[in-house]
Amino acid sequence: MELLQRIEQAVVSGRSALESLGSVYASSIQSVEGAFVFMAKLPEGKRIVVGPVQTVANKFDGQWVGTLKACPLWSYNAAQLRSLFPWTAPCAIGNRVSFGTGDRVGLATPGHVRAFREFVVFPVLAQQSMRELGRTKRVPQDVIDDATFGVFQEGWKEGYAADADHIKTVDEAVMCFKTGFTMFTIDAADHINRKGVYLSDGDAVTELNGRKDSAKIREQYTGKSVRFEEDGVVVEFTFSEADLGRAVATYGKAVDHMVSVWEALKKVAGNTEFDFEISVDETETDTLPKDHYFVASELLRRGVKFRSLAPKFVGQFQKGIDYIGDVAEFERQFSAHALIARKCGGYKISVHSGSDKFTIFPIVGKYTKGYFHGKTAGTSWLEAVRVAAAKAPNLYRRMHKFALERFEEDRKSYHVTTNIANIPDVDTLSDNDLAALLDAVDSRQLMHITYGSILSTLDEKGALLFKTELFKVLEKEEEVHYSFLKKHMVRHMELLGLRRRN
Ligand code: ZN
Repeated sequence: MELLQRIEQAVVSGRSALESLGSVYASSIQSVEGAFVFMAKLPEGKRIVVGPVQTVANKFDGQWVGTLKACPLWSYNAAQLRSLFPWTAPCAIGNRVSFGTGDRVGLATPGHVRAFREFVVFPVLAQQSMRELGRTKRVPQDVIDDATFGVFQEGWKEGYAADADHIKTVDEAVMCFKTGFTMFTIDAADHINRKGVYLSDGDAVTELNGRKDSAKIREQYTGKSVRFEEDGVVVEFTFSEADLGRAVATYGKAVDHMVSVWEALKKVAGNTEFDFEISVDETETDTLPKDHYFVASELLRRGVKFRSLAPKFVGQFQKGIDYIGDVAEFERQFSAHALIARKCGGYKISVHSGSDKFTIFPIVGKYTKGYFHGKTAGTSWLEAVRVAAAKAPNLYRRMHKFALERFEEDRKSYHVTTNIANIPDVDTLSDNDLAALLDAVDSRQLMHITYGSILSTLDEKGALLFKTELFKVLEKEEEVHYSFLKKHMVRHMELLGLRRRN
């Protein structure tokens, strides 16, 4: 009460009085129609505070205190912010270089924004796959609302996108569009037929003949040689009838699927712009340059205007750690993918599972000439865990021990080579040594892949086992959390060679 009265007096005195209050987020203060709208930290939690003009305050749902209305961070209020301040709503990226952060806890956006302020790159601040949502028990609307509040808190007015990541069905895509997502990453892995590459020449030609559009496909590719060359990188291949049959057998259904998602989105979007990304990264076989060319050319032939394409690269992109593999071979393949993307329509190569792949980032920046989409996600969660390790050591120890119990089960859906035996016993470590666990490969992966269990498991009374306590720590230590996040993301952006803002 007392605090709100002080805020009320400051509102009367004007912006500089408001800015000087420690409980008000100075960068959030906006004036509209004679009212102030800003974020404040009250004893009961963060609130959007609006006043003293009633017509503006009436747009929000909250509690009147004198001439001010204190409004909780509810979805309804996020929607009001988006309509009053359009820069708090996601928008399409278009042709800009872009980088996705993703935020599994929903509190990381201000830290991410602080990294983006330093570089020329368009942020994707809301980014979540259906799988991640299932694990964190969030719905798509939460992802956008959390980004809205974070963007408002920081006063970030330069736009951001929302990526519905690894969408598998038309229904998911349409539902996410209606929720407000602006970028759609279509995962066609389920429609790729790996056996297609092993077809005999005869069977491959039969396969090609079976396609309704086989005449068009033949006309476009058969016997034609494709050759691109630039800066010493050469990509060259020809499609025989049988090669074409194998490509059709392997990727034909995947292309059909992408076309149907694209058409469904176009229908629901009308004139609203959105970004369409093609993803074939979550398969076991590397995407050969020839396959990439075939898929991209087929999509273009069929009118799909995709902005980015994520191939599966050689080597291992394990969660939360650096690239494992032959860097020279990666460079050779990546340079070919980047050249095809540039020559075939100027779309971006998208690098998924990009968290912490520091060794290969300079290669990504170099061969794309700085024009790419980077996608990270999970390691922002690890920065939240790092806050616990640094500021709430006992909570960290309990989460760590729980993660060890969960590890065998949770690792099943990931490809990781974590060796639990390399992780020291947390009870033998001093408080000051805990944060270093987040820098060691094995303990990093341990905390990374168990995030869903840590965030969603209930205790025997039905209360959240860790989430509530962790969130309290993150709220109390939010500046520490933001500074960890910023440092981590800046490291990514620097190594990718993104241009610094002047
Ligand atoms: Zn991916």
